[in-house]
Amino acid sequence: MSIGHPAAQLRDDALSRARFEFRWEDQFNLSLDPETARSYHDETLPKEAHKLAHFCSMCGPKFCSMRISHDIRAEARAAGMEQMAERYRDGGDLYVPQSELLAEGTAR
Ligand code: SF4
Repeated sequence: MSIGHPAAQLRDDALSRARFEFRWEDQFNLSLDPETARSYHDETLPKEAHKLAHFCSMCGPKFCSMRISHDIRAEARAAGMEQMAERYRDGGDLYVPQSELLAEGTAR
């Protein structure tokens, strides 16, 4: 549909940025069918406050990969990028041990 359209990439990039920054209203408005996009979102998260949420109903708040990416970035900024790079350089702990999740109460 948008192949060859000069603004297609700009629009797609803008939509991606809005998605990653959880700007839900911008996402709806940049979509090809804003009303349908908004209605799909509102089927499960209808409140206005949900338009500010850093997750949607697909993965939920605990497993939203974009929220987790933001959290990791914030942690890296706080810890200093070099310290975080060192942590992950030798295999790191990308996978949290189940015992740790159980202790946090985020796993069964
Ligand atoms: S919950 Fe999943 S689908 Fe929804 S915004 Fe987060 S990563 Fe995307």
